[in-house]
Amino acid sequence: MIQKLKGTRDILPEEVKLWQYIENISKNVFENYGYDEIRVPVIEALELFQRGVGEATDVVQKEMYNFEDKGGRKIALRPEGTAGVVRAYIENGMSSSLSPVKLWYHMPMYRYENVQKGRQREFNQLGVELFGAESYLADTEVIEMCDMLFKKLNINDIELNINSIGCPTCRKEYLEALKEYIRPNLEKYCTTCKTRFEKNPMRILDCKEENCKKLNKNAPKILDYLCEECKNHFENVKNRLDKLEIKYKVDSNIVRGLDYYTKTVFEFISKIDGLTVLAGGRYDGLVEELGGMHTPAIGFASGMERLIEVFKLNNKELDFSKSLDIFVASIGDEADIYCAKLVKKLREKGIIAEKDIMERSIKAQFKYADKKNAKFVLTIGDEEINNNEAKLKCMNSGKELEIKLDDINELIKTLKNQ
Ligand code: ATP
Ligand code: MG
Repeated sequence: MIQKLKGTRDILPEEVKLWQYIENISKNVFENYGYDEIRVPVIEALELFQRGVGEATDVVQKEMYNFEDKGGRKIALRPEGTAGVVRAYIENGMSSSLSPVKLWYHMPMYRYENVQKGRQREFNQLGVELFGAESYLADTEVIEMCDMLFKKLNINDIELNINSIGCPTCRKEYLEALKEYIRPNLEKYCTTCKTRFEKNPMRILDCKEENCKKLNKNAPKILDYLCEECKNHFENVKNRLDKLEIKYKVDSNIVRGLDYYTKTVFEFISKIDGLTVLAGGRYDGLVEELGGMHTPAIGFASGMERLIEVFKLNNKELDFSKSLDIFVASIGDEADIYCAKLVKKLREKGIIAEKDIMERSIKAQFKYADKKNAKFVLTIGDEEINNNEAKLKCMNSGKELEIKLDDINELIKTLKNQ
């Protein structure tokens, strides 16, 4: 039998209910903060990610799914959402809309990863991008929205870590200091880190190899090198978060996995398994880098699969199963047509209704209704049709009610009142 590819998952109906629940809550939170949904292609020019995400990142160096199409174009499956959304923002002239432009998305992403807990090759990200706001107030509103999302999802075991990674101006001096620190031990770092040393040494701080982590232990901290503007911005962010009573920790080790970040970066980490559930930051240089006008921006993405795992741990007793409102059992061919019409009317009115489509015996129909946890069973044969009256059995109490078949509104009222 052909099996699913490594790092991909089937989401079965039971689990889909959970996804939909989380999707609805997130959509509401984003919309309450004034965001609109955007959907962009799964395939993009490879160059978009090389330029947008950065040549020296893990994502581009090791994890990209790329190929040449029949026309010889170099194409990649998107590994993240921001580059595509920024391209769409520029290409569709959204910079001339009223600022800030607030967008959210929920899209599958593709990365050739070492598959392990919380790390798949096809996964989904729920994310937002906010364009055109330079002020720290945008950073804190975005973080507040994440906090609201976790509250609405009743996820409490979560910690916010923030950092500032400065701007190209202050980073220049910092990168020199960092290189000076790393240089004497460069030989001891992994091969990937060695290639990062010239291109983007800050990436070395993001290395997951134990040995590199150890070597990085006493590395200089970017916070000590921030320019006046970046320092003020970060102080303002912290003050406002304090005022909003949003708890956070400053973690000077957060550099994030993608090259485009500037100033504020943040991560929400699950206290239970230590996995990063949501991560983001400011990327003031990216729109320009991808051919647009200078546009400050900020965004984040949350891995849906990880979000669902922590959601489950925090919401153990939620039940999303939807049971059948009514099963209409039919006896005989004439009654079957009658039932089909009745069920159609009920469905039209938003009732979850089923009837037999297996040509089962009446006994087998009752058995099916029982197994499907139907709340009511209505039984209709020739006699019931002639008398315009049928028995509606409440499966919970076992009680039977006589109902008039031609009064569908009364029937619906009974179904809804139970
Ligand atoms: P990490 O350091 O864990 O590799 P990253 O820097 O690659 O993370 P981002 O690219 O910022 O992460 O992605 C944002 C979020 O998307 C992550 O915090 C995580 O929740 C989720 N995510 C990233 N990669 C994967 C993956 N391979 N499988 C499932 N979820 C993922
Ligand atoms: Mg990664």
